[in-house]
Amino acid sequence: MNRERIYSQEGHLMLGNVDSVQLAKTYGTPLYVFDTEIIREKAAAFKEAFSRYPVNYQIAYASKAFSTVAMVQLVDELGLALDVVSGGELYTALSADYPAERIHFHGNNKSEEELRYAVKAGIGAVIVDNFYELDMLSNIAREENKIVKVMLRITPGVEADTHAYISTGQEDSKFGFYLTKGDAEEAFRRTIRDPQLLLIGLHFHIGSQLFTAKTHEQAIQALYEYVDQWYKTYQFLPGIINVGGGFGIRYTESDLPETPQTFIGAIVECILRECEQRNLKVPEIWIEPGRALVGEAGTTLYTVGSMKSTREGRTYIAVDGGMTDNLRPALYQSKYEAAIANRFPSESEKAVTVAGKCCESGDILIDSIELSAVKPGDLLAVFCTGAYGYAMANNYNRLPRPAVVFVEAGEAQLVVKRESYEDLIRHDLPLKKRSQIR
Ligand SMILES: *Cc1c(COP(=O)(O)O)cnc(C)c1O
Repeated sequence: MNRERIYSQEGHLMLGNVDSVQLAKTYGTPLYVFDTEIIREKAAAFKEAFSRYPVNYQIAYASKAFSTVAMVQLVDELGLALDVVSGGELYTALSADYPAERIHFHGNNKSEEELRYAVKAGIGAVIVDNFYELDMLSNIAREENKIVKVMLRITPGVEADTHAYISTGQEDSKFGFYLTKGDAEEAFRRTIRDPQLLLIGLHFHIGSQLFTAKTHEQAIQALYEYVDQWYKTYQFLPGIINVGGGFGIRYTESDLPETPQTFIGAIVECILRECEQRNLKVPEIWIEPGRALVGEAGTTLYTVGSMKSTREGRTYIAVDGGMTDNLRPALYQSKYEAAIANRFPSESEKAVTVAGKCCESGDILIDSIELSAVKPGDLLAVFCTGAYGYAMANNYNRLPRPAVVFVEAGEAQLVVKRESYEDLIRHDLPLKKRSQIR
C-alpha cells in the first residue's frame, strides 16, 4: 500500500472521502470498496507514459481482474479497450453496451460456442492461442461469412520472475504458439494465407505481478528476430505488437514495482530500437494491464469476530470472509496489508494472524500483521484487493458473495448487490422420488 491512509476526525478510515464505518453499516461486511479515482489515476499514468513517444498505442483493460457491468462502463468512460477471456466476460461487456469492436478475446481453450458468439458480435480481435482454435475460428468465419481479425499468442520462451502459477511465457506453458520450435511460424503462415482471417498483430503475455520490464524486453528481442525473418520470407509485417499485461503493484511495502512511466518507457524504447536496427516500420503498441488498473483501488472491509491466542504465542483474529472473497493468499501465498478501520492507528500494535471463516486451515488472509488492540466487532480493512478478489470469489461453505461499492469524491454507489441465501439455491433442484427417476 503506497498511498497515505486518511482518517476522519473520529478516527474512521476514509475511502474515496467516504467513511468506511458508514459503508459497513449501510452495505454490510464483507464489502469490496473500489476508489474509482485511483482507477482513473492509473489509466492516466499509462496514457501519459505512452504519450511521450511518437507511437500509436492502445491500452486494453484485462477484465478478468475485475469484471462487472459498472466496471466495464467505467473502462468505456476512460477510453480504454477491453480484453475478455470467456463468453461470460464477453456477455458482461456487451451487456454494459461496451462497443464490440474494442473487445479482444483471449484464452487457451475457447469453445466453438464462445468463438461463434464473439464473431457474430463483431469483436475487434481474437487472440488465437493454438492450431485447434485457428482451424475452428477459420471455419466459423467462413460459416458466418465474415473476415475475422486475429492476433497470434506467441510463447517467447522467457521465464518471468514471479510465482509459477502466474508465469506464462516459458516454453513449457499451456499458452500460445512456441516461438523457437517452429509453431509460431507455422501459425503465422497459415493465418496470412487464410482468406477468412486477417492477421493484425502478434501478442505475448509473460506473467503477472512483474516489477521490471526486463522480461518484456527479452520477449520483444526474441520476437523481433522472427518478425524480421518472417518479413523477409513472407513480405508480411504485423501492424501491432501486443506485449500483454503483468505490471506489478504494491500489495505490501516490500513490493517495489517500476512506475508505469518507467515500465512503458522501457518497452516502447526496446521496440523502437529493434525496429530501427532492422529497418522495420514501427508497429502500433498494445498493452493489457489488469491488476495495475484496479488492484490498488480495491479495499475489502471485514468485521472481526472470534479471537484466540495459542500457547505458541500466536493470536488469531477471524473475520467474516476469507478464501471465498479473496482466494489469492490460499492460491499463491499472496501478502496483504491491513488496518483497523474504526479508530486511529495507535503506537501499541501487536502482531496477529488474520483468519477467514472457511473450514480450511489454509484459509488465512494474512499470516502476520501489526494491528492496534483488536477486539471483536472491529472493522478491518485489507488493502489492494481490487484485482482477482471479487473476480475469484466463490461460494465455498455456501457463503454469499459480498457486495461491491464504488466510492469517489465523497459519494458511494452500490454496483454489485450482496448475494442472498436465496441466490445460493437459485439453481438447485429438489431430489426426485425414486419412482419418478426412470
Ligand atoms: C491475465 C492477463 C493479463 C492481465 O494480467 P495482469 O497481471 O492483471 O496485468 C493481460 N493479458 C493476458 C493475456 C492475460 O491473460
